[in-house]
Amino acid sequence: MRKEIRNSFYPLLFALLLLLTGCGNGSDAKSTPKSAETVTPGAASEITPSEAADITDVTSKPSPTDITDIASDPSPTEPADASTDPTPTDITNEATGPVPTGTVDETNGTTPLISPSPQAAESNPPHTHTFGGWIIDEEASCELKGLKSRKCSVCGKTETQDIEPLGHRFGDWKTVSNATCVGEGSQERSCTVCGKKETATVKAKGHNYGEWTTVKAATCTEKGSRKRTCLVCGAEDKQTVDAKGHSWSNWKILKEATIFEAGEKTRSCQVCSKTETAVIDIIVPTDEEKTAMALKVAKQIAENAPKNASDIDKVTYAAEAVSDYCSRCNYTMEGKDYKLPYGVFVKGEYSCAGATRALGMVLECMGFKWKHVNEHQYTHQWCELQMDGQIGWADGQIGMAGYGEFPFY
Ligand SMILES: [Zn+2]
Ligand SMILES: [Zn+2]
Ligand SMILES: [Zn+2]
Ligand SMILES: [Zn+2]
Repeated sequence: MRKEIRNSFYPLLFALLLLLTGCGNGSDAKSTPKSAETVTPGAASEITPSEAADITDVTSKPSPTDITDIASDPSPTEPADASTDPTPTDITNEATGPVPTGTVDETNGTTPLISPSPQAAESNPPHTHTFGGWIIDEEASCELKGLKSRKCSVCGKTETQDIEPLGHRFGDWKTVSNATCVGEGSQERSCTVCGKKETATVKAKGHNYGEWTTVKAATCTEKGSRKRTCLVCGAEDKQTVDAKGHSWSNWKILKEATIFEAGEKTRSCQVCSKTETAVIDIIVPTDEEKTAMALKVAKQIAENAPKNASDIDKVTYAAEAVSDYCSRCNYTMEGKDYKLPYGVFVKGEYSCAGATRALGMVLECMGFKWKHVNEHQYTHQWCELQMDGQIGWADGQIGMAGYGEFPFY
């Protein structure tokens, strides 16, 4: 405990005892409120104002609450001890209490014997305190604050200060239970000073798997599975394995595509021998390609035409040749090619417009100039041209040519 305080308190206590004995009672000044129940009105009246004041100083410890309790206790039949209930308030509250509150004078009633410290401080001249060394009143522990004090050698003023808690000094962690692959472990350590224990969890280690082994091999089209085993606890980990997909060979062409129809190709899996076939799209030539293909045929016809013949014979040959192509074509007005030389010579589709342009292409190859009669009109069409020095006509569809006006229209 606080040695300093105790030392200064003893004389004070002694003085108090003396005082109380003088009142003819001798009870401890620090009597509990319980003893107040023994106060009688008569006894209370024996206290002089100065005595009451003295006692007030000494017993300043009881709280106002305690005092109120005492005052409200009405038991008047019990014998009272006025000296053990020195609170002026109590005395005043007693029905027969003769001592008015106003007669208590704390300043006059206080004696240096009872409360020496404040009086001593006042009696000393102003000075800078000369404190001695700190004395530890209460040691700090790991968790609780301690207390220290020092005293002025001149006036006796005591100054106290907290000592911060020291904090635990833990030893090394010790395993309580080992962590497993999937379960947490725990560990513990103790304070080497106070023995306080602290525990902590240790994370699960996780499995330590070996290599994957195949359970079921995946095929081109079916999933497989595999597993691995924990080398520590034997737990199994299973996984599906994706199907591999086919390992296709290159495409092999079964039938080439043409301008007339689609082609066909095939390939096979090098693992499971599955085969599949696919269409090769029909060939759709560009406009330039169409013209080039038609021109090739037109030139051939022109070359085959009779040499050293009259114009009308040459043109009639050309008209017959174009008509011959037309006879092997479908007459149509559908699609893109029926009105082109390409339709007549290559694609096998024609109309009178297509026949006229096909014959015109041959005539150009032969060196004739020609005019497309009724072009872009929904009516019969033919070629008009100069042959042997006179105007005439040539019709690729019917395969005829003649001088003068076209006779069939
Ligand atoms: Zn001092
Ligand atoms: Zn500790
Ligand atoms: Zn494991
Ligand atoms: Zn396959």
